[in-house]
Amino acid sequence: MKLLKENAAEGMLENFIKYESNVTKIVCLMLAALYVKDLGIRIFVEGQRSLSLIIFVQASLILLYFLVSRFQHKYQDSEKPEISSGYKVFRIVEVTLCALFISTLFYSEYFYFVPILPIAFECIKSGYRKARPYLLLGLISQLVTQALASLYLKHVVFESVSILRQSIIITCMYVLYTGFIYICGIVHKEYVRSEAENNILIDRLGDKYIQLEQAKKEIQEHYDKVRETNKKLEETNEKLTASIAEFYTLQQISQAITSIFYMNELLKFVNDIIMGVMGALHSTIALCYGPYNKLKVQVSSIYDRKELAIVSDYINTDVLKPCTTEGKSMIDNNVNPECYPFTIGRNIKSLICVPFLAKGNPLGVVLIEHSFKDAFNSENVRLLEIICQQVSIAIENARLYQQMHDLATMDGLTGAYNRLYFQDKILEEFNRAKEEEYELSLIIFDIDHFKKFNDTYGHLFGDKVLKSISAYIQRTLRKEDIFARFGGEEFVILMPHTSLQQAVEKAEEIRKGIASLTITDRVVEASVNISLGVSSIPHTANNPNELVRTADDALYEAKESGRNNVKVAKPVN
Ligand code: GH3
Ligand code: MG
Ligand code: MG
Repeated sequence: MKLLKENAAEGMLENFIKYESNVTKIVCLMLAALYVKDLGIRIFVEGQRSLSLIIFVQASLILLYFLVSRFQHKYQDSEKPEISSGYKVFRIVEVTLCALFISTLFYSEYFYFVPILPIAFECIKSGYRKARPYLLLGLISQLVTQALASLYLKHVVFESVSILRQSIIITCMYVLYTGFIYICGIVHKEYVRSEAENNILIDRLGDKYIQLEQAKKEIQEHYDKVRETNKKLEETNEKLTASIAEFYTLQQISQAITSIFYMNELLKFVNDIIMGVMGALHSTIALCYGPYNKLKVQVSSIYDRKELAIVSDYINTDVLKPCTTEGKSMIDNNVNPECYPFTIGRNIKSLICVPFLAKGNPLGVVLIEHSFKDAFNSENVRLLEIICQQVSIAIENARLYQQMHDLATMDGLTGAYNRLYFQDKILEEFNRAKEEEYELSLIIFDIDHFKKFNDTYGHLFGDKVLKSISAYIQRTLRKEDIFARFGGEEFVILMPHTSLQQAVEKAEEIRKGIASLTITDRVVEASVNISLGVSSIPHTANNPNELVRTADDALYEAKESGRNNVKVAKPVN
C-alpha cells in the first residue's frame, strides 16, 4: 500500500513538474506585467521622474527570479526535487524574490498573493505540512522586504503607508493564505488518495487481465489439444470404419464362397459387393478361357447391351496384358479412351483392373470403372486385390471341381456325357417330367457297319468319325437336351419337353445331317450312316427303363430293315 502511495505521488509529481514549469512562466509573466503596470503608475499617475533606481531594482529582481526558476527547472529535470535540499533552497529563494519584488511595487498589498503561488503549487505537490515552512518564509520575507523597502526605498517607490499597517495587512493576508494553502493540502491529500486507489484498481485490473490472459492461453492450449485429439480420433474412427467395412465385405464374400455353389451366381454376388464397396459406376468380371487365356465377360453391372458388347469385344486388349498375363493390378484415374478400346464411347474416366490369380496363373480379371476422374485410390486397389485373392480360390476350386466333374461325367473321346451320367440324368428328368407333366423323348442311334469302317480306314480314323459325329450332334441340340455315349459307337439323346413326333423329326434331321457329313483325314475322305430308334414317355414307354428298351428295340428294327433310317417304338398298350 505504501509503495502504491509512493508510486501515485511520483506519478502526480511527474505531471506536476511539467505543470509547475508552466506556472513559473506565468509567475514570470505576472511579475513582468506588474513591472510594466508599476512603471506606468509611476510615470503617468504619480508623475515620478527619477525612476532609474526602481527600474533597475525591479528589473534585476525579475531577471534574478527568471534565472533562478530556469536553474530550478534544470535541476528538477536531473534529480528528484522533493528530496533534494538544493531544490528547497531554490524554492526559498524563489519565494523570497517574489516577496521582495512585490514589496517594491506601488499598492503592493494587492499583490501579496504572488509569492503564495509557488507555495500553493508546493502544497499541491508535497502536501500541507511540507508547504507550511514556505508559508512562514513567505510571511517573514514579505514583512522584512516590505519593512526594508519602506525604510530604504520610500522616497522613490511607495505611497505613504505605515510599516505597522503593512505588517498587519501582510499578516492578515498570510492568515488567509494559510487557509487557502490548507485547502490546497486537502486537495493534495484527496488527489494522492484517489491516485493510490486508482493505482490499486489498475493493479488489480492488471492482475485480473494477466490472469485472464493466462486462462485464455490455457483454454486455447486445451482447445488445441482437444482439437488434435479429436482429429486423431476421427482419423482412427475413419480407419476403423474402413476396416470394419472391409472385414464385413470379406466376411460376406467368404460366406458366399462357402454357400454359393454355382460359379456365375457367386461371381454375380461378388460383383455386386465390389460395386457397393468401391462406389464404382460399373464392375465387370471376366474369366480366362482356352490355351491363350482369352478373357470372356462372365458377369457385369453394365445393363446397356451395346456397352456390354463393346466391353466383351475389346476386353482382350493389349493394354490389360500386364494384368491378364503378368498378374499386375492397374489403376488409371485419367483414362484416355484411345488407350482403352473397351471404353470408347462409354464416358469412362477412371478404372482399376485387378487379376484373379491361382499360384501366379491368371484366372481372370475384375474391372471397375467410373465416369469421374480420380475416382479411385491405392486403397481401393488394395481392397480389390484382397477380394480377388479370396475369390480366386473359389474360381480355382470351381475349375478343379468342373474338371473332376467332367472326368466323372464326360466321355473323354467325344466330349459327350458318359453312360453313368446319362443313367442318373434319365431318372432325374423322368421325375421332373412326371411332376410337371411334360413329354420326355429318347433317340438311340448306332453307326452302320462301323466295324467294317474301322477295318477299312483304321481305328484312328474311326475315332475321328466318332468325334465329328459328336460335335455335329452337340451343335444341333438344345441346351436342355442330354447327349451321351451309350457304348462303343452307340449314342443316346434325351430330350425333355419333346413329343414323340418332334423327336422323330429331330432323329430324321440328324440322320440326314450325319449322312451328309464328310470326314477327312489328310488324303482320306469318308462318310457314315446311322440307324436311329425313337421312343417317348408317355406314348411308347412309362418309365426310364422302358424308354431305353423300347428305343433300343426301334434301333434294332431300323438295322433289320436295312439301316440308315429311323424307327419309332410301338405305343404302350
Ligand atoms: P451294325 O451296327 O451296322 O450292325 O454293324 P457294326 O459293324 O457297326 O456292328 P457293331 O455295332 O456291333 O460294331 C461295333 C464296332 O464299333 C466294333 C468296334 O470296332 C467299333 N467301335 C466301338 N467302339 C469304338 C471306338 O471307340 N473307336 C473305334 N474306332 N471303333 C469302335
Ligand atoms: Mg454299329
Ligand atoms: Mg454298335
